[in-house]
Amino acid sequence: MADLFTRAQAVIPGGVDSPVRAFGSVGGAPVFVERASGPHIYSADREYIDLVGSWGPALLGHAHPTVVEAVQKAASKGLSFGAPTEAEVELAELVIDRVEPVEKIRFVSTGTEATMTAIRLARGFTGRDLVVKFAGCYHGHEDNMLVAAGSGVATFGMSSSAGVPKGTVEDTVVLPYNNREAVETLFATHGEKIAAIITEGAPANMGVVPPTPGFNAFLKEQCEKAGALLILDEVLTGFRLSKAGMWGIDQDVPYTPDLLTFGKVIGGGMPIAALGGRADVMDWLAPLGPVYQAGTLSGNPLATAAGITTLALADDAVYEQVNRSSQALSDGFSQALSAEGVDHTIQRVGSLFSILFSDTPATNYDEVAAQDQFRYAPFFHSLLEDGIHLPPSVFEAYFVSATHTDEVIDKILAAAPKAARAAAQ
Ligand code: PLP
Repeated sequence: MADLFTRAQAVIPGGVDSPVRAFGSVGGAPVFVERASGPHIYSADREYIDLVGSWGPALLGHAHPTVVEAVQKAASKGLSFGAPTEAEVELAELVIDRVEPVEKIRFVSTGTEATMTAIRLARGFTGRDLVVKFAGCYHGHEDNMLVAAGSGVATFGMSSSAGVPKGTVEDTVVLPYNNREAVETLFATHGEKIAAIITEGAPANMGVVPPTPGFNAFLKEQCEKAGALLILDEVLTGFRLSKAGMWGIDQDVPYTPDLLTFGKVIGGGMPIAALGGRADVMDWLAPLGPVYQAGTLSGNPLATAAGITTLALADDAVYEQVNRSSQALSDGFSQALSAEGVDHTIQRVGSLFSILFSDTPATNYDEVAAQDQFRYAPFFHSLLEDGIHLPPSVFEAYFVSATHTDEVIDKILAAAPKAARAAAQ
């Protein structure tokens, strides 16, 4: 594996096509995957139980035979047409059936494209420029979302990446997550300039940070009063937390986002993503409206086949299984860490969880960053040594699938005491 990593680094920047894969924050060489099946990934010489799940898409487990068969069948009929297909309409109808706020939907190829287009659409529809995001939420790598949070309560436009023109991020405001006062203050002073708030359904890109009860509904209320739109980014949580994503389990205080974005599970591992929501807003997209968006591979027939099959298979039993498995796994990890006296909190929303190395739950990015981050690398490497593949960063959620059965969870937990001892040092 180290040899392959050296070879990769000679020809691919950092040896990877997406930065977190490089093991930068845990050290060592990444696992180069040859194939995957169910809860397992395989390198050339070893089997691992996988808790990365392709960073979310593998809700049904890797290479589900029915999904693979659907893709093979679609492939035999042609790889890409650049013309409408019945499968796109079918997938659109499936999503609209499951997620009530979605009246119309447009398919794109990546989550980044979905949020980028949703933001452009919100700006076009409202005729306003300011977009509000929360520190620690990730919405993809489009220029105007690569914004660092400063130390103030609201920070205007400081780019977190080289190569992003200053002007591009000037209209992005970063606020601390779960902080209603900061939102109210911003809306009181700039409300009439705000096009949209974009927020993850439940943040899971700074580890998992649950929204405080009613927070998303509060955001919608603020947007509605100011004539702005709420974009609920469900790229990661959509079709994972329930058939209707985070929105489906977040109705204690009911709210309806104006736009939602999807990715990951919607394609079951194939490159497809989407934005959807209010028909009157969606109709502002070209060719009906003045907001431009297009894509050579949008609605690709292999990807729509995988998406239709994945959503059709994601029934109540799947959600019960992932909920049960993630609960058993997080309980087991927690017991092992407690036995070694390691301060920690399980941060959880539905079947998504992460371990925070602090005994105080985190409600925003600053609190997440203040944990004992150094404990994660030894914890991670002990498990990797024992054949368990965790996300290689303390800022990521753990993804279980419907193939993570009790037996698989028991195997993971058998390795937990040693990992907890490593974390304790
Ligand atoms: N939005 C959220 C919430 C995500 O988690 C991600 C990716 O992890 C994205 C958007 C970007 O999606 P993609 O990596 O498909 O561009």
